Amino acid sequence: MLSNLIDRNLSQVFRKQAFASFLMTLFFVIFISGCGTLGSYNAATGKKEFILVSTAEEVAMGESVDQNLRAEYKYSSNRTMISRVEGIGRKIAQVSDRQDYSYNFFVIEKDELNAFTTPGGNIYIFTGLLNKLTTDAQIAAVIAHETGHCAAKHVVKKYQTSLGYDIVKKLVLGQLDSSGRAAQVVSMSSGTIMNLVLSKYSRGDEFAADKLGVKYMYLAGYDLNGIVETLAILDKESKGDGGLLILRSHPYLKDRIESVKKEIQAVKS
Ligand SMILES: [Zn+2]
Repeated sequence: MLSNLIDRNLSQVFRKQAFASFLMTLFFVIFISGCGTLGSYNAATGKKEFILVSTAEEVAMGESVDQNLRAEYKYSSNRTMISRVEGIGRKIAQVSDRQDYSYNFFVIEKDELNAFTTPGGNIYIFTGLLNKLTTDAQIAAVIAHETGHCAAKHVVKKYQTSLGYDIVKKLVLGQLDSSGRAAQVVSMSSGTIMNLVLSKYSRGDEFAADKLGVKYMYLAGYDLNGIVETLAILDKESKGDGGLLILRSHPYLKDRIESVKKEIQAVKS
């Protein structure tokens, strides 16, 4: 029993080491050859990024995730609410740094304070959260933050990281044709997908998404106070309930409020 466990642990260690050495070799080859084709410049972050999943594959991934979400949640049929969210979403999407796919906005009928983004520019917001927000600027604040995660490619990076070693290796080595690539990318189990949807972003990603959120709100002409108001509403609602789902995927609320106030001053000056 114990030896099995040790064997299993050792094989996991070796697998991780093999993956790490593969990545190191890969980065080395890219670095030495000066080949920039795998790293592309991202206007949202001002950096070159290493994204293996193409835009078409990301969109296919998003469609697959949406199928899972439709099995999990009830989508709202409230046309007034959907039109309001889509209208605000379109204004924010127009000023996003990322324009290689179209953004989609979905309202989920659930009394929960939550919003999240999946690959391919799909942004989801729950009726429980919408019912707590009163102004368009407050709703725009949620959408602008999520759009920030899209533009900075935090979403695709989160999903890319979860892909298995074999798939990543095949993607890198070009061993999958285009239909094979999409099929492999979207072949995650629904449990894995739901965990990914709700998994948290890093502290750095959260602050970056807030900074981009302030920028998009400003460019789209929304009242920037909406951001502080929305964060304050979440803070108030989380009192006595630290388990708000939106805080699970978007943590560090307290620090973010202070940081956002500074970003707003900077963008106004
Ligand atoms: Zn976030």
